[in-house]
Order: sequence, then C-alpha cells, then structure tokens
Amino acid sequence: LSEKLESAFKNLKGQARITELNIANTVKDIRRALIDADVNFKIAKEFTDKVKEKALGEKVINSVSPGQLMVKIVQDELTELMGGTAADFSVTGNPAIILIAGLQGSGKTTFTGKLANYLKVQKGKSPMVVAADIYRPAAIDQLTVLGEQIGVPVYAERDNKDAVSIALNAIKEARAQNKNVVIIDTAGRLAIDEAMMTEVANIKQAVNPTEILFVVDAMTGQDAVNTAKAFNDRLDFTGVVLTKLDGDTRGGAALSIKYTVQKPIKFMSSGEKMDTLDVFYPDRMAQRILGMGDIASLVEKAQQQFDEEKAKKLEKKIRKNQFDFQDFLEQLQQIKKMGNLKDLMGMIPGVGKAIKDIDINDDAFKGIEAIIYSMTPEERANPDLIDQRRKARIAKGSGKDIQEVNAFMKQFEQMKKMMGAMNKLPMGGRMPGFRR
Ligand code: GDP
Ligand code: MG
Repeated sequence: LSEKLESAFKNLKGQARITELNIANTVKDIRRALIDADVNFKIAKEFTDKVKEKALGEKVINSVSPGQLMVKIVQDELTELMGGTAADFSVTGNPAIILIAGLQGSGKTTFTGKLANYLKVQKGKSPMVVAADIYRPAAIDQLTVLGEQIGVPVYAERDNKDAVSIALNAIKEARAQNKNVVIIDTAGRLAIDEAMMTEVANIKQAVNPTEILFVVDAMTGQDAVNTAKAFNDRLDFTGVVLTKLDGDTRGGAALSIKYTVQKPIKFMSSGEKMDTLDVFYPDRMAQRILGMGDIASLVEKAQQQFDEEKAKKLEKKIRKNQFDFQDFLEQLQQIKKMGNLKDLMGMIPGVGKAIKDIDINDDAFKGIEAIIYSMTPEERANPDLIDQRRKARIAKGSGKDIQEVNAFMKQFEQMKKMMGAMNKLPMGGRMPGFRR
C-alpha cells in the first residue's frame, strides 16, 4: 500500500503548481492504492471523495507546497478514519475481566500472553490468564508455557468441558489470589460458527467483562472485515486487536474494520515475542500506511538520547557560525547512540525505500572519526588553524591520504556554509513540523 500511495504523491510533490485535474488524478491513484490494499471499494471511495473535497476547499491549488498539504489532508483523514486518538483501555474492577474472542489462528492465545505481560510490566497490574479453550488440550499447554515465560499464573481445568464454569471458577480463584485482572482466552474456529459464537456469548453473559477484545489477523484483508462484523453483531465487543502487523503488512484491515464496525482498534501486535505489543495510535498508523515513516517515533527516539543542554549550546554555536570538528564528532556519536543508522534513516520520509538494498553500516563514519581523532584539541576547535603541514600530519595519523583529508575538510566547510545560510531563514532554519 505504501509504495502505491508514494507513487500517487510523487506527481504532486514534483509539481510546483497544481490544477484541479491533477488533484482528481492523485485522488484516483490513492483510491486504487487503498483498494489494492484490501480496503473495501465503498470505503475507499467515500474516503477519497472526502479528501478531494477537502483538497479543493483548503485551496491546495494556491498553497506554497501543494504536495505537502495534500499529504497532510490524506494523513489527517486516515487518522480520523482510524479513530483520531488512542482509545481508552479499562482495567478497573476487582478484578477487571477481559474477554478475548476471534477465529482460530488469529493470535488470541499469543495476544493473551502479550497483554498480561504488558499489564504486568507497564501498568503494574497482577494479572491471571485463563485457558477457556476446551477443545484443544494443546491450547492449555500453549498458554501455560507463555504464562511461565512472563511469570503470570495460568488458570486451567483439564477435565472441565464447560467454558462458562471454567471462566467463573477462574474469577473466584483470581479474587482468592488477589489478582486484579483476569484475561480469558477462548476457543476459536477456522470460520464463523454458531456453536463458537454461542459459547463466547454465554461466557460474556456469565462474567460481565470490563473489556471484550476481538482479535484479528491483519493479513487476512477483506475477510477480516466480515469476521469483525459477525463477532460485533453477536458480542458487541469494546475494541479490536490487530495482530501480525509484522514488517510491511498492509494496513488496509485497520481502515476497513474501524469504518465497518465503528469500534476502536486498541492494540496492535507483531512478532511472536511477548514484548511486541503496542497501544494503537491512529496517527502513527496513518503515517505508516502513507509510507511517510514513523516520524513521531523517530523524534521520540532522538529525544530520548539527546541531551537538551548540549542541544542548546550547539544551537548557539551554529548561530554564531562556530561549529567545529569537536561538535561534529559529538554529533556523529549522538547519531550512533540512537541505534542502527540504516533503521534510523529508514524512518525519514521517502528514504526508507531508497536505501532498502543499500548496505549502510556505522563503519561509514569510521574514516571521518579517524581523521578528527588525529587532530589536536586546538585544531578541532579552530578549523582555520589547519594548514597544509598540519593536514599532512593528520593524514598520516589517521591512516588516510591527504586527498581524503582535503575532501573531508572541504565537505565540512560546505556544511558550515549551509548552516550559516539556514540561520538566515525564519525560525533559525529549524525544520517545520518537528515537535520539540
Ligand atoms: P489463536 O488460535 O487465536 O489462539 O492463535 P495463536 O495465538 O495460537 O497464534 C496462531 C499462530 O500465529 C501461532 O503460530 C503464533 O505464534 C502466531 N502469531 C500470533 N500473533 C502473531 C504476530 O503478531 N505475529 C506473527 N508473526 N505471528 C503471530
Ligand atoms: Mg488459542
């Protein structure tokens, strides 16, 4: 989906002027991309009609950067369609009771483990998980293994063939053990089935859950919507969990499900490790779908590592055009601290795809570091000090040849000039749209 949308925007990005005609074309491309990603035709049409209306209304045609404004409109609409802001998830109650429902193989048992782990580690709760799948003995074993892994007690009754009584007994036991959340993992079938629905509905009736989460495999596309509808008609669930959002799984299901059942998506899950559960943020998902890179997490990641003090000092130095080699070296080290360089670059809009097949590793910095390390502190602080004689010494010290040192010095000077030019822009050359 992302690639298709990217190409839909490509035209716009390259065009300084925009006409009504190419808005219409772009909107058509977006619609096609959505439909290709399993978004229901009707939903895709309604969505793109709204985008078109907004684009014309917000005078995209006359704006300074029409491409960006268009992207923003699509992103805002996507965010809105997926629920706007992150939905509440309630774990109040004594205990809070969370009922998990969905088809077999959708990832219910795995999610039960992940949710228990999340509530325990992130929310300081003491959960208990319940194996209410009475048809497959292996299901009890599976949950038992997960429970041991995350250090959460598992309630099961191997000889009891009544899922409702297992659930009720589990809640009693949880109270006795002072557990404040009970997560009930239920049995699923391969397809929607009356017996399964009746059983889950009966459990719901008996335990009066705080939350009923419908778990759905994000890779099942259009089928996911039909399943969601059937479960919602019967259970009136409180939220959706999208699983198997690994790697580049298309986001189409998120869109269609939210639109069709009008229930919030509360969690997204990827991978089989217990700590890969995330609260669902519609805006981040919208960005991901758009192939714009997850800018929010990039900024967050950078902020975690970046020392505010240092940043301010650096900004001052840049403003006074005093940026030197020592500063540059520290910047390099900051970047390296943030993690794998390729991953980081992949989060920058448009870059991810371009560098997909390129081998980038942190060694790319090593040569530059070696050159700077071979400078004396005075030289690092006063780049102007470095004459031919010093250059020769630095080259020798760093194991580079003089041309490489020259090339680097030249690049550094150019970069400094660019920084100087940015200073003259309004806002001190800071990138608009980046939250601080
Ligand atoms: P259930 O039948 O609904 O309980 O589904 P399970 O939790 O047993 O999951 C079915 C299969 O999908 C298992 O092999 C899981 O390891 C796998 N699985 C579950 N969630 C994810 C996920 O988010 N990503 C990936 N890649 N696999 C998952
Ligand atoms: Mg299961």
